[in-house]
Amino acid sequence: MDIIEIEIKHSLEEEGCPVCRLIEKFEKEEIETILYEHPNDPEVRKSFQKSLGLCPRHAWKTLRLALSNPLLGPHGISVIYKDVLMWYLRGGQATEECLLCKLSSEKEEILLESFSERFSSFIDLYENSPSILCRRHYEDLLSRINDEKLKEKLARIQRRKLEGLFKRLESFVQSFDYRSERKPNEKEKRALTETIEFFAGREIGPECREKRREKRWLLKLR
Ligand SMILES: [Zn+2]
Ligand SMILES: [Zn+2]
Repeated sequence: MDIIEIEIKHSLEEEGCPVCRLIEKFEKEEIETILYEHPNDPEVRKSFQKSLGLCPRHAWKTLRLALSNPLLGPHGISVIYKDVLMWYLRGGQATEECLLCKLSSEKEEILLESFSERFSSFIDLYENSPSILCRRHYEDLLSRINDEKLKEKLARIQRRKLEGLFKRLESFVQSFDYRSERKPNEKEKRALTETIEFFAGREIGPECREKRREKRWLLKLR
């Protein structure tokens, strides 16, 4: 078993989308590496200059992470943004997309590729795991699998998982009824976040993928 298989296996042990979860972990590690080791790295500096800092999602994520980790703090990110501001004052413009969006999309591609290639060996694990692929990753994965039987099996499993989620969310809603004497259990309490995660995915990658796809397409046309 290689590293990526071990990673995928681990991610299947928890609730929520396993692909999103792995990308989230990757983004966190990338942010930490940049802030720990590279605030003065010329390559990183150039990359931040060319996109005038990070996109809104990644900029705030990076700041939150830096401030919540006493080992990081605001120093590294201040050094980076001081440089971006200086560049902007000298007339620099944004010509590239955010560094983290770029890295995150690359990671996503690698993960989906390896996930789909080995899906036959993961499908039983997925079936019995508490995880639920988010809508976007589910559809993407489905489109990459060539084996029709495997596709059907995945669709069946996904539907069963979502029906289970619906029941839990329904019980959770019912527990708010003043006539209800029952308190929701932990699984029911989690149903709301799991449902949002199914539709929206986790807070990772480019904020607006449609626009990004469109932009890519337009760039190709030029
Ligand atoms: Zn996902
Ligand atoms: Zn970004």
